[in-house]
Amino acid sequence: MKLIYNPVFLQHDTGMHPENAKRLEAFEDLPTTPVPDGSEWLPLVHTSHHIEKVRTACDIHTHLDPDTIASPGSYEAAVRAVGATVLASERGDFALVRPPGHHAYANRSSGFCLFNNVAIASQKLAHEGKRVFLFDFDGHLGDGTSHVFEDTDQVLYCSIHQYPAFPGHGWVNEIGTGNGRGFTMNVPLPPESGDDVFMDAVNTCMQVLEQFKPDVVAVSAGFDAHLYDLLLQMRVTESSFYKVGQLLRERSTNIFATLEGGYNVAVLSQCIYNFMAGINGEEMPHQRQVTSSSRPVWEEYELRIQSVMSNLKQWWKFS
Ligand SMILES: [Zn+2]
Repeated sequence: MKLIYNPVFLQHDTGMHPENAKRLEAFEDLPTTPVPDGSEWLPLVHTSHHIEKVRTACDIHTHLDPDTIASPGSYEAAVRAVGATVLASERGDFALVRPPGHHAYANRSSGFCLFNNVAIASQKLAHEGKRVFLFDFDGHLGDGTSHVFEDTDQVLYCSIHQYPAFPGHGWVNEIGTGNGRGFTMNVPLPPESGDDVFMDAVNTCMQVLEQFKPDVVAVSAGFDAHLYDLLLQMRVTESSFYKVGQLLRERSTNIFATLEGGYNVAVLSQCIYNFMAGINGEEMPHQRQVTSSSRPVWEEYELRIQSVMSNLKQWWKFS
């Protein structure tokens, strides 16, 4: 797994917003990869009304919602972010993109996201007959992605996120609808969860991945569950992101990822390099002392994870 990066992603100008170009500028000496224009794949997920609304908002440099800014360069950045994620899905790479995507719905932008990069790439694979395990370990629920795939059993959406937090749902009883019942898995973690709780949640998700037997693992790789992140209250460190990569490597040979959140520019690159080193079977490049959760956090987590497993036991076995 290698990074796919293009300076076009810096053209999404959000000013002093936490999701800004400094997140990617903090990476040094990144080679430029030519990335396709993803416009042709937008309709796999988005309505024409939404696509036009984003284009217009970019042209007039306005907000799509109070959190989500569109600048004149944002449209090109957004369609190239889609293209880069599709390219990553073809090559097994990591699309280092912005704007991020997982909060974007078919018909609306949300939470810093214009188009849903990972949902588009995953939908494309699903249309090609592939079964996709879509693993979202960003510290927020990817509510847009979850909504896109809630009624299908071909793409299993599995999210670990802080709860309560934006966008306000992603509880244990949201397990999909219709044909998709049992194919959505939400593991909501209490604020202040450390590496121990986070990795227990990851291991529980891995049990479902093993039974689902996907053709492809798509990763919404967000790093805002980090101890030093600015937006959430989680206490996960770089070492867990390395271990997530290792666990995925042991379970699939067909993995791609795209960047979602992660707002501390001092640690974002280290988190990503650790994750990719885990996937690539390399030594962990960045070490940090792992964190332990307090007893109240563990007790709350235990109640929640029992409910997660109980709600899904009709479809999946847990040990
Ligand atoms: Zn996030």
